[in-house]
Order: sequence, then structure tokens, then C-alpha cells
Amino acid sequence: MVEAWVETLGWLLPALALWVAFAIVSGAMGAVKGRPGLGSLLGLLLGPVGLAITLLMRGTLRECPYCSGLIPRVAPACSHCGKHLRG
Ligand SMILES: [Zn+2]
Repeated sequence: MVEAWVETLGWLLPALALWVAFAIVSGAMGAVKGRPGLGSLLGLLLGPVGLAITLLMRGTLRECPYCSGLIPRVAPACSHCGKHLRG
């Protein structure tokens, strides 16, 4: 009986750790796109599929062409260097 448990834990724990890793990586990818909560939620619920969705998700942030700082997609000017981005 105990051996069966050990055998089960033998593959369950690495699988669980891998799943959590997907959630963490997905959360980090979501954070880059300005949606950290959504990223980790997708990773936690869907594992590798959630990570793929997070990677394909269109972010709310974009990179400033002048200073490479991350700013909201709709911002008219960069909050880091102050350059006007459109208009
Ligand atoms: Zn800038």
C-alpha cells in the first residue's frame, strides 16, 4: 500500500511542480503584457495551453521607441522619457 503511494507521488509531484511552473511563467509573460493576474490564472487553469494563450494575447503595454520603457498602448506620450508618441 505504501509503495503504491510512493509510486503515485513519484509522478504526481513532478507533474504538479511542472504545472505550477507553467502558472509562474505564464504569470510572468502576462506581467510583461500588463496582465499578470490573467496570465497566472490561465497558466494555473490550462497549464501549457494557458501559457500559449498568454503568449499570443495582445498586451495592453507597448515599448517606447525612444527609451524602450513599457507604457500603456493608448498613452499619447511616454511616461519614462516624456516623448510624444503620436499626434
Ligand atoms: Zn520613452
